Amino acid sequence: MEENLFRSIPRVDELLGRDELKVSALPPVLLRESVREELDALRDEVRGGLSALPETGILCARILARAEEKQLPTLRSVINATGVTLHTNLGRACLSERAANAAAEAARDYSTLEYDVENGCRGSRYQHVEALLCRLTGAEAAMAVNNNAAAVLLILSALAGGGEVIASRGELVEIGGSFRIPEIVTQCGCTLCEVGATNKTHRRDYEAAIGEQTRALLKVHTSNYRIVGFTESVPREELAEIAHGHGLPLIEDLGSGAIVDLEPFGIRGEPTVQRSLHAGVDVASFSGDKLLGGPQAGLIVGKREYIERIKKHPLARALRLDKMTLAALHATLSVYLDSETAAREIPTLAMLSASEDELHAKALRLQKAIADTGVSSQLVWTGDAVGGGSAPAQELNGWAVAIEPGRLSVDELEEKLRLRAKPIVARIHRRQYLLCVRTIREEDFAEIAAAAAEAIR
Ligand SMILES: *Cc1c(COP(=O)(O)O)cnc(C)c1O
Repeated sequence: MEENLFRSIPRVDELLGRDELKVSALPPVLLRESVREELDALRDEVRGGLSALPETGILCARILARAEEKQLPTLRSVINATGVTLHTNLGRACLSERAANAAAEAARDYSTLEYDVENGCRGSRYQHVEALLCRLTGAEAAMAVNNNAAAVLLILSALAGGGEVIASRGELVEIGGSFRIPEIVTQCGCTLCEVGATNKTHRRDYEAAIGEQTRALLKVHTSNYRIVGFTESVPREELAEIAHGHGLPLIEDLGSGAIVDLEPFGIRGEPTVQRSLHAGVDVASFSGDKLLGGPQAGLIVGKREYIERIKKHPLARALRLDKMTLAALHATLSVYLDSETAAREIPTLAMLSASEDELHAKALRLQKAIADTGVSSQLVWTGDAVGGGSAPAQELNGWAVAIEPGRLSVDELEEKLRLRAKPIVARIHRRQYLLCVRTIREEDFAEIAAAAAEAIR
């Protein structure tokens, strides 16, 4: 019996010659791979006691489905229905239309990446965003690298390599993905000199630690945690005074680094870059794709003498930005010249600043689209996180549509909507399936409604 079944299993070339597969536009290499895998799976089933082989037509359909899945990029668009604006797993900030177009243009065309048009000779890729960064932050000089982790690595290597760096025990941050201040400092060839206690660090702690080997004072923004209660830290102005009194630079890793004040949007405790520099910080760094709402990048701003040293460090070449990112970064930064335009055009800012009333109205529109396909839902108030390791202790008032899963469990509904070609990533809270509207694009409403109806039907 089993012998017979084995003998009737079609051969690879026989299947590849079938019309169903021949008319497919999928790459032959993927088809062949899928045929092999499908036949292997079939043999396993026969060994497991399968009583009859599937029809060849059904086999072909399975092969096509396999090949199509292989064709799908693993990096693809998703619908973010979590309400978390800077969702690290979903790519943090979405670029503005303007920035995305600028990146696409830089990708397609030759450009002035390292060309000085005026003099017809070699130029520098650092020039493209420096003037804008200086204008926006009040810095003397600026440069951009791959991400903020790279920025910190480069700054410390260039300004403190071989020496000691002093930092407070309350600020020895770990960011996701194994970026930890103590390890980074060591990686830069520096010795970390920890001062103070977890909750309190005083001026005298820094002063007592400065010695022959000290190269810099480092302040780190506690992006993803807060120390509350019986606490004390030294203000930037005083740190600058101490550092400058000894001819040392004060360096600050700002993390998110907002360049507009986010307090009006209900986001507290995120220092602006301008405030940091104004307080006397000599070199500050921050991410391009957190609260700034641009592409992944690490921005370095500060005093010219230090920035020049950083630009000349050998690591700078290894950490440099590509032309697409530079173009997107320039487009993002130019929008900030007018902060009202920025709040409207930069998706991150627009999402974070959406009012509770706006979100309620948006949730009603999504609920209507879903109701039109015959699926029931309720509106639910949510507390939306900012994400990206920013504003850890705060939630923003938001609204979500909770879909009634019908004959499915909440987990089954979640899985069905997640396993689509364009996955819907939602939130399950208190046994409810929540589509948080803050981060959902209005133009995706119809697709979400249709997908929900199909899943539940
Ligand atoms: C996020 C963050 C980093 C790392 O920035 P990336 O742009 O993700 O590399 C470093 N330091 C602090 C304080 C951060 O918040």
